[in-house]
Amino acid sequence: MSSSQSDVVIIGGGIVGLATAWQLHQRDPSVRMTLLEKEPDVAVHQTGRNSGVLHSGIYYRPDSLRARNCHQGRIALQEFCSEYGVAWQQTGKVIVAVTEDEVPRLRQILDRGRQNGVTCRLIEREELHELEPHCAGLKAIHVAEAGIVDYTGVCRKLAELLRQAGHHLAFNTQVKSIRQFADRVELDCTSGTFAASQVVNCCGLFSDRIARKSGQQLRERIVPFRGEYYELRPEAEHLCRSLIYPVPDPRFPFLGVHFTRMVQGGVECGPNAVLALAREGYTWKQINLRDLAESLTYPGFLRLAAGNLRTGLQEIHRSLSKAAFVRSLQKLIPEIREEHLTVGPSGVRAQLLGRDGKLIDDFVVQRQDRVVNVCNAASPAATACLNIGRLVADCL
Ligand SMILES: Cc1cc2nc3c(=O)[nH]c(=O)nc-3n(C[C@H](O)[C@H](O)[C@H](O)COP(=O)(O)OP(=O)(O)OC[C@H]3O[C@@H](n4cnc5c(N)ncnc54)[C@H](O)[C@@H]3O)c2cc1C
Repeated sequence: MSSSQSDVVIIGGGIVGLATAWQLHQRDPSVRMTLLEKEPDVAVHQTGRNSGVLHSGIYYRPDSLRARNCHQGRIALQEFCSEYGVAWQQTGKVIVAVTEDEVPRLRQILDRGRQNGVTCRLIEREELHELEPHCAGLKAIHVAEAGIVDYTGVCRKLAELLRQAGHHLAFNTQVKSIRQFADRVELDCTSGTFAASQVVNCCGLFSDRIARKSGQQLRERIVPFRGEYYELRPEAEHLCRSLIYPVPDPRFPFLGVHFTRMVQGGVECGPNAVLALAREGYTWKQINLRDLAESLTYPGFLRLAAGNLRTGLQEIHRSLSKAAFVRSLQKLIPEIREEHLTVGPSGVRAQLLGRDGKLIDDFVVQRQDRVVNVCNAASPAATACLNIGRLVADCL
Protein backbone atom coordinates (compact mmCIF):
# COMPACT_ATOMS: atom_id res chain seq x y z
CA MET A 1 0.00 0.00 0.00
CA SER A 2 1.31 3.44 -0.90
CA SER A 3 0.54 7.04 -0.08
CA SER A 4 0.95 9.91 -2.52
CA GLN A 5 0.32 13.67 -2.72
CA SER A 6 -0.56 15.70 -5.85
CA ASP A 7 -2.03 19.07 -6.71
CA VAL A 8 -4.93 17.48 -8.56
CA VAL A 9 -6.24 13.92 -8.60
CA ILE A 10 -8.52 12.90 -11.43
CA ILE A 11 -10.63 9.80 -10.91
CA GLY A 12 -11.49 7.93 -14.11
CA GLY A 13 -9.41 6.90 -17.11
CA GLY A 14 -12.16 7.32 -19.68
CA ILE A 15 -11.98 10.04 -22.30
CA VAL A 16 -13.42 12.72 -20.02
CA GLY A 17 -10.89 12.15 -17.24
CA LEU A 18 -7.96 12.00 -19.64
CA ALA A 19 -9.08 15.05 -21.65
CA THR A 20 -9.57 16.97 -18.40
CA ALA A 21 -6.04 16.08 -17.28
CA TRP A 22 -4.72 17.18 -20.67
CA GLN A 23 -6.50 20.53 -20.55
CA LEU A 24 -5.24 21.16 -17.00
CA HIS A 25 -1.73 20.35 -18.15
CA GLN A 26 -2.09 22.69 -21.14
CA ARG A 27 -3.21 25.47 -18.83
CA ASP A 28 -0.48 24.99 -16.22
CA PRO A 29 2.27 22.43 -16.91
CA SER A 30 3.61 22.88 -13.36
CA VAL A 31 0.49 21.27 -11.81
CA ARG A 32 1.31 17.78 -10.47
CA MET A 33 -1.46 15.39 -11.41
CA THR A 34 -2.39 11.82 -10.64
CA LEU A 35 -5.08 9.94 -12.54
CA LEU A 36 -6.68 6.97 -10.79
CA GLU A 37 -8.39 4.22 -12.79
CA LYS A 38 -9.84 1.02 -11.36
CA GLU A 39 -9.24 -0.98 -14.54
CA PRO A 40 -5.83 -2.10 -15.89
CA ASP A 41 -6.12 0.17 -18.96
CA VAL A 42 -7.78 3.35 -20.29
CA ALA A 43 -11.17 3.42 -22.09
CA VAL A 44 -12.45 0.09 -20.76
CA HIS A 45 -16.05 1.22 -20.27
CA GLN A 46 -18.23 3.77 -22.13
CA THR A 47 -15.38 5.33 -24.09
CA GLY A 48 -14.07 2.08 -25.54
CA ARG A 49 -17.53 0.70 -26.28
CA ASN A 50 -19.26 3.54 -28.08
CA SER A 51 -20.22 4.13 -31.72
CA GLY A 52 -17.01 5.99 -32.56
CA VAL A 53 -18.87 8.93 -34.06
CA LEU A 54 -17.71 12.54 -34.08
CA HIS A 55 -21.07 14.22 -33.58
CA SER A 56 -21.83 17.51 -35.30
CA GLY A 57 -24.09 18.93 -32.57
CA ILE A 58 -27.21 19.00 -34.73
CA TYR A 59 -29.66 17.52 -32.21
CA TYR A 60 -29.15 19.49 -29.03
CA ARG A 61 -31.16 22.36 -27.50
CA PRO A 62 -29.35 25.52 -28.63
CA ASP A 63 -28.83 26.91 -25.12
CA SER A 64 -27.54 23.60 -23.73
CA LEU A 65 -23.99 22.76 -22.70
CA ARG A 66 -24.10 19.91 -25.22
CA ALA A 67 -24.86 22.28 -28.12
CA ARG A 68 -22.29 24.83 -26.96
CA ASN A 69 -19.51 22.32 -26.52
CA CYS A 70 -20.07 19.69 -29.20
CA HIS A 71 -19.18 21.81 -32.23
CA GLN A 72 -16.04 23.40 -30.74
CA GLY A 73 -15.09 20.19 -28.97
CA ARG A 74 -15.23 18.22 -32.21
CA ILE A 75 -12.99 20.69 -33.99
CA ALA A 76 -10.52 20.62 -31.08
CA LEU A 77 -10.54 16.81 -31.09
CA GLN A 78 -10.02 16.60 -34.86
CA GLU A 79 -7.04 18.96 -34.53
CA PHE A 80 -5.67 16.84 -31.68
CA CYS A 81 -6.04 13.64 -33.74
CA SER A 82 -4.39 15.20 -36.79
CA GLU A 83 -1.49 16.52 -34.70
CA TYR A 84 -0.86 13.26 -32.83
CA GLY A 85 -1.67 10.70 -35.53
CA VAL A 86 -4.91 9.24 -34.15
CA ALA A 87 -7.21 7.85 -36.87
CA TRP A 88 -10.25 9.96 -37.73
CA GLN A 89 -12.21 10.70 -40.86
CA GLN A 90 -14.84 13.20 -41.90
CA THR A 91 -17.40 10.88 -43.49
CA GLY A 92 -20.58 12.97 -43.42
CA LYS A 93 -23.84 11.50 -42.23
CA VAL A 94 -27.47 11.27 -43.28
CA ILE A 95 -30.48 11.44 -40.95
CA VAL A 96 -33.28 9.77 -42.85
CA ALA A 97 -37.07 10.17 -42.73
CA VAL A 98 -38.62 6.95 -43.99
CA THR A 99 -42.29 7.94 -43.54
CA GLU A 100 -44.21 11.16 -44.22
CA ASP A 101 -44.94 11.70 -40.51
CA GLU A 102 -41.17 11.81 -39.78
CA VAL A 103 -40.61 14.69 -42.21
CA PRO A 104 -41.80 17.50 -39.86
CA ARG A 105 -39.44 16.18 -37.15
CA LEU A 106 -36.64 16.06 -39.70
CA ARG A 107 -37.27 19.75 -40.46
CA GLN A 108 -37.17 20.57 -36.74
CA ILE A 109 -33.78 18.88 -36.46
CA LEU A 110 -32.58 20.87 -39.49
CA ASP A 111 -33.67 24.15 -37.83
CA ARG A 112 -31.95 23.15 -34.63
CA GLY A 113 -28.77 22.26 -36.49
CA ARG A 114 -28.75 25.65 -38.19
CA GLN A 115 -29.26 27.42 -34.84
CA ASN A 116 -26.31 25.43 -33.52
CA GLY A 117 -24.11 26.54 -36.43
CA VAL A 118 -23.96 23.07 -38.02
CA THR A 119 -23.52 22.89 -41.79
CA CYS A 120 -26.50 20.78 -42.80
CA ARG A 121 -29.08 20.71 -45.58
CA LEU A 122 -32.26 18.92 -46.54
CA ILE A 123 -31.82 16.53 -49.43
CA GLU A 124 -34.37 14.68 -51.55
CA ARG A 125 -34.58 10.95 -52.25
CA GLU A 126 -32.46 11.18 -55.43
CA GLU A 127 -29.50 12.81 -53.69
CA LEU A 128 -29.83 10.46 -50.73
CA HIS A 129 -29.51 7.55 -53.16
CA GLU A 130 -26.41 9.07 -54.70
CA LEU A 131 -24.83 9.27 -51.24
CA GLU A 132 -26.20 5.99 -49.88
CA PRO A 133 -27.49 3.87 -52.78
CA HIS A 134 -29.02 1.16 -50.56
CA CYS A 135 -30.78 3.46 -48.10
CA ALA A 136 -34.57 3.87 -48.18
CA GLY A 137 -36.02 7.26 -47.35
CA LEU A 138 -38.23 10.09 -48.50
CA LYS A 139 -36.00 12.95 -47.42
CA ALA A 140 -32.86 13.27 -45.36
CA ILE A 141 -30.56 15.77 -43.71
CA HIS A 142 -26.99 15.63 -44.92
CA VAL A 143 -24.48 16.65 -42.25
CA ALA A 144 -21.17 17.06 -44.00
CA GLU A 145 -19.07 17.66 -40.89
CA ALA A 146 -19.94 14.47 -38.96
CA GLY A 147 -17.21 11.86 -38.83
CA ILE A 148 -15.66 8.86 -37.12
CA VAL A 149 -12.69 8.46 -34.82
CA ASP A 150 -10.74 5.93 -32.77
CA TYR A 151 -11.73 7.00 -29.24
CA THR A 152 -9.58 4.33 -27.58
CA GLY A 153 -6.66 5.60 -29.68
CA VAL A 154 -7.36 9.14 -28.42
CA CYS A 155 -7.22 7.88 -24.81
CA ARG A 156 -3.99 5.94 -25.36
CA LYS A 157 -2.35 9.01 -26.90
CA LEU A 158 -3.55 11.27 -24.05
CA ALA A 159 -2.22 8.78 -21.49
CA GLU A 160 1.16 8.66 -23.27
CA LEU A 161 1.40 12.47 -23.41
CA LEU A 162 0.46 12.83 -19.75
CA ARG A 163 3.06 10.27 -18.70
CA GLN A 164 5.71 11.96 -20.83
CA ALA A 165 4.84 15.25 -19.11
CA GLY A 166 5.58 13.63 -15.74
CA HIS A 167 2.07 12.97 -14.46
CA HIS A 168 1.24 9.74 -12.68
CA LEU A 169 -1.37 7.29 -14.02
CA ALA A 170 -2.33 4.66 -11.44
CA PHE A 171 -4.24 1.68 -12.86
CA ASN A 172 -5.99 -1.07 -10.87
CA THR A 173 -6.74 1.64 -8.34
CA GLN A 174 -10.35 1.98 -7.25
CA VAL A 175 -11.43 4.91 -5.12
CA LYS A 176 -13.37 3.61 -2.12
CA SER A 177 -13.91 6.69 -0.01
CA ILE A 178 -13.32 10.44 -0.06
CA ARG A 179 -12.53 12.62 2.94
CA GLN A 180 -12.48 16.38 2.58
CA PHE A 181 -10.37 18.57 4.90
CA ALA A 182 -9.86 22.34 5.01
CA ASP A 183 -6.60 22.11 3.03
CA ARG A 184 -6.80 18.79 1.13
CA VAL A 185 -8.81 15.80 0.02
CA GLU A 186 -7.86 12.23 0.91
CA LEU A 187 -8.89 9.28 -1.20
CA ASP A 188 -8.77 5.74 0.17
CA CYS A 189 -8.14 3.41 -2.71
CA THR A 190 -7.56 -0.27 -3.29
CA SER A 191 -3.84 0.41 -3.75
CA GLY A 192 -3.24 2.99 -1.04
CA THR A 193 -4.13 6.53 0.00
CA PHE A 194 -3.89 9.51 -2.33
CA ALA A 195 -4.10 13.13 -1.24
CA ALA A 196 -4.57 16.25 -3.36
CA SER A 197 -5.53 19.88 -3.10
CA GLN A 198 -8.37 19.26 -5.55
CA VAL A 199 -10.08 16.26 -7.04
CA VAL A 200 -12.07 15.74 -10.24
CA ASN A 201 -14.60 12.91 -10.46
CA CYS A 202 -14.91 11.61 -14.05
CA CYS A 203 -16.24 8.18 -13.10
CA GLY A 204 -18.82 7.74 -15.85
CA LEU A 205 -21.22 5.00 -14.74
CA PHE A 206 -20.24 5.55 -11.10
CA SER A 207 -20.01 9.34 -11.05
CA ASP A 208 -23.18 9.74 -8.95
CA ARG A 209 -21.89 7.41 -6.23
CA ILE A 210 -18.50 9.14 -6.16
CA ALA A 211 -20.22 12.55 -6.08
CA ARG A 212 -22.17 11.46 -2.99
CA LYS A 213 -18.97 10.22 -1.38
CA SER A 214 -17.58 13.74 -1.88
CA GLY A 215 -20.49 15.12 0.14
CA GLN A 216 -22.61 16.31 -2.76
CA GLN A 217 -26.35 16.02 -2.18
CA LEU A 218 -27.16 14.63 -5.61
CA ARG A 219 -30.86 13.82 -5.89
CA GLU A 220 -30.55 12.23 -9.33
CA ARG A 221 -29.23 8.74 -9.92
CA ILE A 222 -27.41 7.02 -12.76
CA VAL A 223 -29.42 4.24 -14.34
CA PRO A 224 -27.41 2.09 -16.74
CA PHE A 225 -28.84 1.43 -20.22
CA ARG A 226 -27.11 -1.14 -22.39
CA GLY A 227 -26.76 -0.62 -26.12
CA GLU A 228 -26.13 -3.73 -28.20
CA TYR A 229 -24.60 -3.82 -31.67
CA TYR A 230 -24.47 -6.17 -34.61
CA GLU A 231 -21.75 -5.97 -37.26
CA LEU A 232 -22.20 -6.31 -41.00
CA ARG A 233 -20.41 -9.28 -42.50
CA PRO A 234 -17.77 -8.20 -45.08
CA GLU A 235 -20.01 -9.19 -48.02
CA ALA A 236 -22.73 -6.76 -46.79
CA GLU A 237 -20.49 -3.81 -45.87
CA HIS A 238 -21.11 -2.13 -49.22
CA LEU A 239 -24.72 -1.50 -48.10
CA CYS A 240 -23.54 1.44 -45.95
CA ARG A 241 -20.99 3.98 -47.15
CA SER A 242 -20.78 6.30 -44.11
CA LEU A 243 -23.25 7.01 -41.29
CA ILE A 244 -26.99 6.38 -41.66
CA TYR A 245 -29.26 7.48 -38.79
CA PRO A 246 -33.04 7.40 -38.33
CA VAL A 247 -35.08 10.40 -37.15
CA PRO A 248 -34.76 10.05 -33.36
CA ASP A 249 -37.73 9.74 -31.05
CA PRO A 250 -37.78 13.13 -29.28
CA ARG A 251 -38.86 11.52 -25.97
CA PHE A 252 -35.51 9.73 -25.59
CA PRO A 253 -31.90 10.93 -25.63
CA PHE A 254 -30.84 7.84 -27.63
CA LEU A 255 -30.54 8.31 -31.37
CA GLY A 256 -32.13 5.04 -32.53
CA VAL A 257 -30.39 2.08 -34.18
CA HIS A 258 -28.12 3.35 -36.94
CA PHE A 259 -25.35 2.21 -39.28
CA THR A 260 -21.85 3.40 -38.51
CA ARG A 261 -18.78 2.81 -40.62
CA MET A 262 -15.93 2.33 -38.15
CA VAL A 263 -12.59 4.05 -38.52
CA GLN A 264 -10.77 0.71 -38.06
CA GLY A 265 -12.94 -0.84 -40.83
CA GLY A 266 -16.28 -2.61 -40.76
CA VAL A 267 -19.81 -1.36 -40.16
CA GLU A 268 -21.66 -1.48 -36.83
CA CYS A 269 -25.46 -1.54 -36.56
CA GLY A 270 -27.13 -0.37 -33.35
CA PRO A 271 -27.26 0.40 -30.50
CA ASN A 272 -30.64 -0.38 -28.96
CA ALA A 273 -31.35 0.60 -25.33
CA VAL A 274 -32.30 -1.84 -22.56
CA LEU A 275 -31.91 -1.59 -18.79
CA ALA A 276 -28.53 -3.09 -17.88
CA LEU A 277 -28.72 -5.44 -14.90
CA ALA A 278 -25.36 -4.11 -13.67
CA ARG A 279 -23.69 -0.75 -14.19
CA GLU A 280 -21.04 -2.60 -16.13
CA GLY A 281 -23.41 -5.30 -17.38
CA TYR A 282 -22.58 -5.93 -21.01
CA THR A 283 -24.83 -9.00 -21.40
CA TRP A 284 -28.12 -10.18 -19.83
CA LYS A 285 -26.04 -12.62 -17.74
CA GLN A 286 -24.03 -9.92 -15.98
CA ILE A 287 -26.08 -9.04 -12.92
CA ASN A 288 -25.10 -6.96 -9.91
CA LEU A 289 -27.71 -7.14 -7.19
CA ARG A 290 -26.86 -3.78 -5.64
CA ASP A 291 -26.98 -2.00 -9.02
CA LEU A 292 -30.19 -3.75 -10.03
CA ALA A 293 -31.94 -3.08 -6.72
CA GLU A 294 -30.92 0.58 -6.93
CA SER A 295 -32.43 0.89 -10.42
CA LEU A 296 -35.62 -1.01 -9.67
CA THR A 297 -36.40 0.82 -6.41
CA TYR A 298 -35.57 4.29 -7.71
CA PRO A 299 -38.77 6.34 -8.15
CA GLY A 300 -37.28 7.99 -11.24
CA PHE A 301 -36.82 4.66 -12.99
CA LEU A 302 -40.25 3.41 -11.96
CA ARG A 303 -41.85 6.56 -13.38
CA LEU A 304 -39.85 6.30 -16.60
CA ALA A 305 -40.75 2.60 -16.98
CA ALA A 306 -44.46 3.19 -16.26
CA GLY A 307 -44.63 5.99 -18.82
CA ASN A 308 -42.80 4.02 -21.52
CA LEU A 309 -43.82 0.44 -20.91
CA ARG A 310 -44.54 -0.37 -24.55
CA THR A 311 -41.25 1.09 -25.84
CA GLY A 312 -39.34 -0.67 -23.06
CA LEU A 313 -40.86 -4.04 -23.92
CA GLN A 314 -40.15 -3.48 -27.62
CA GLU A 315 -36.52 -2.74 -26.78
CA ILE A 316 -36.24 -5.96 -24.73
CA HIS A 317 -37.82 -7.90 -27.59
CA ARG A 318 -35.36 -6.33 -30.03
CA SER A 319 -32.51 -7.30 -27.69
CA LEU A 320 -33.62 -10.94 -27.52
CA SER A 321 -34.74 -11.36 -31.13
CA LYS A 322 -32.31 -10.86 -33.99
CA ALA A 323 -35.28 -10.84 -36.40
CA ALA A 324 -36.80 -7.85 -34.57
CA PHE A 325 -33.44 -6.03 -34.64
CA VAL A 326 -33.17 -6.71 -38.38
CA ARG A 327 -36.69 -5.33 -38.97
CA SER A 328 -35.62 -2.02 -37.35
CA LEU A 329 -32.52 -1.90 -39.54
CA GLN A 330 -34.54 -2.71 -42.67
CA LYS A 331 -36.44 0.57 -42.25
CA LEU A 332 -33.20 2.26 -43.25
CA ILE A 333 -31.66 -0.39 -45.52
CA PRO A 334 -34.36 -2.79 -46.80
CA GLU A 335 -31.79 -5.21 -48.29
CA ILE A 336 -30.40 -6.13 -44.85
CA ARG A 337 -30.97 -9.81 -43.97
CA GLU A 338 -30.31 -11.73 -40.76
CA GLU A 339 -27.44 -13.58 -42.44
CA HIS A 340 -25.66 -10.24 -43.08
CA LEU A 341 -25.21 -9.66 -39.34
CA THR A 342 -22.94 -11.08 -36.65
CA VAL A 343 -23.20 -10.23 -32.96
CA GLY A 344 -21.05 -7.21 -32.14
CA PRO A 345 -19.94 -5.57 -28.91
CA SER A 346 -22.17 -3.73 -26.44
CA GLY A 347 -21.79 -0.62 -24.31
CA VAL A 348 -23.58 0.72 -21.24
CA ARG A 349 -24.65 4.36 -21.12
CA ALA A 350 -24.59 6.22 -17.81
CA GLN A 351 -28.01 7.85 -17.90
CA LEU A 352 -28.62 10.41 -15.17
CA LEU A 353 -32.28 10.20 -14.25
CA GLY A 354 -34.32 12.65 -12.17
CA ARG A 355 -36.63 11.41 -9.40
CA ASP A 356 -39.54 12.57 -11.57
CA GLY A 357 -38.53 10.08 -14.29
CA LYS A 358 -37.05 12.73 -16.60
CA LEU A 359 -33.86 11.82 -18.42
CA ILE A 360 -31.19 14.44 -17.82
CA ASP A 361 -29.41 14.70 -21.11
CA ASP A 362 -27.23 17.80 -20.71
CA PHE A 363 -23.73 17.75 -19.25
CA VAL A 364 -23.70 18.35 -15.48
CA VAL A 365 -20.54 19.59 -13.75
CA GLN A 366 -20.84 20.57 -10.06
CA ARG A 367 -18.39 21.55 -7.36
CA GLN A 368 -18.50 20.23 -3.81
CA ASP A 369 -15.81 22.08 -1.84
CA ARG A 370 -12.50 20.71 -3.19
CA VAL A 371 -14.09 18.14 -5.50
CA VAL A 372 -15.45 18.84 -8.98
CA ASN A 373 -17.97 16.19 -9.98
CA VAL A 374 -18.70 15.52 -13.64
CA CYS A 375 -22.09 14.02 -12.78
CA ASN A 376 -23.34 13.63 -16.33
CA ALA A 377 -21.19 13.20 -19.40
CA ALA A 378 -23.58 11.46 -21.77
CA SER A 379 -23.23 11.47 -25.55
CA PRO A 380 -21.74 13.51 -27.21
CA ALA A 381 -19.27 13.76 -24.32
CA ALA A 382 -16.65 11.77 -26.21
CA THR A 383 -16.83 14.21 -29.13
CA ALA A 384 -16.84 17.18 -26.75
CA CYS A 385 -14.25 15.79 -24.29
CA LEU A 386 -11.64 18.50 -24.78
CA ASN A 387 -14.24 21.19 -24.18
CA ILE A 388 -15.60 19.42 -21.11
CA GLY A 389 -12.00 19.35 -19.90
CA ARG A 390 -11.93 23.13 -20.32
CA LEU A 391 -15.17 23.51 -18.36
CA VAL A 392 -13.71 21.48 -15.51
CA ALA A 393 -10.45 23.41 -15.60
CA ASP A 394 -12.49 26.62 -15.25
CA CYS A 395 -14.06 25.18 -12.07
CA LEU A 396 -10.73 24.39 -10.43
C1 LIG B 1 -23.30 2.53 -26.60
C2 LIG B 1 -22.75 3.93 -26.57
C3 LIG B 1 -22.56 4.65 -27.76
C4 LIG B 1 -22.07 5.95 -27.73
N1 LIG B 1 -21.74 6.58 -28.90
C5 LIG B 1 -21.10 7.79 -28.85
C6 LIG B 1 -20.58 8.40 -30.03
O1 LIG B 1 -20.63 7.82 -31.10
N2 LIG B 1 -20.01 9.62 -29.92
C7 LIG B 1 -19.91 10.30 -28.73
O2 LIG B 1 -19.41 11.41 -28.69
N3 LIG B 1 -20.34 9.72 -27.58
C8 LIG B 1 -20.90 8.48 -27.61
N4 LIG B 1 -21.29 7.86 -26.46
C9 LIG B 1 -21.08 8.55 -25.19
C10 LIG B 1 -19.62 8.51 -24.77
O3 LIG B 1 -19.05 7.25 -25.00
C11 LIG B 1 -19.54 8.89 -23.29
O4 LIG B 1 -20.21 10.10 -23.11
C12 LIG B 1 -18.08 9.05 -22.84
O5 LIG B 1 -17.32 7.92 -23.21
C13 LIG B 1 -18.02 9.25 -21.35
O6 LIG B 1 -16.66 9.21 -20.96
P1 LIG B 1 -16.27 9.11 -19.43
O7 LIG B 1 -14.82 9.26 -19.36
O8 LIG B 1 -17.15 10.06 -18.66
O9 LIG B 1 -16.79 7.66 -18.97
P2 LIG B 1 -16.10 6.24 -19.08
O10 LIG B 1 -15.50 6.00 -20.40
O11 LIG B 1 -17.12 5.25 -18.63
O12 LIG B 1 -14.91 6.30 -18.04
C14 LIG B 1 -15.11 6.36 -16.64
C15 LIG B 1 -13.97 5.63 -15.99
O13 LIG B 1 -14.04 5.78 -14.57
C16 LIG B 1 -13.56 4.58 -13.99
N5 LIG B 1 -14.06 4.50 -12.61
C17 LIG B 1 -15.34 4.42 -12.21
N6 LIG B 1 -15.41 4.36 -10.86
C18 LIG B 1 -14.14 4.41 -10.41
C19 LIG B 1 -13.56 4.40 -9.10
N7 LIG B 1 -14.30 4.33 -7.99
N8 LIG B 1 -12.21 4.46 -8.99
C20 LIG B 1 -11.42 4.56 -10.11
N9 LIG B 1 -11.93 4.57 -11.36
C21 LIG B 1 -13.26 4.51 -11.51
C22 LIG B 1 -14.14 3.50 -14.88
O14 LIG B 1 -13.45 2.26 -14.76
C23 LIG B 1 -14.00 4.13 -16.26
O15 LIG B 1 -12.81 3.75 -16.90
C24 LIG B 1 -21.79 6.57 -26.47
C25 LIG B 1 -21.96 5.84 -25.29
C26 LIG B 1 -22.40 4.52 -25.33
C27 LIG B 1 -22.48 3.74 -24.06
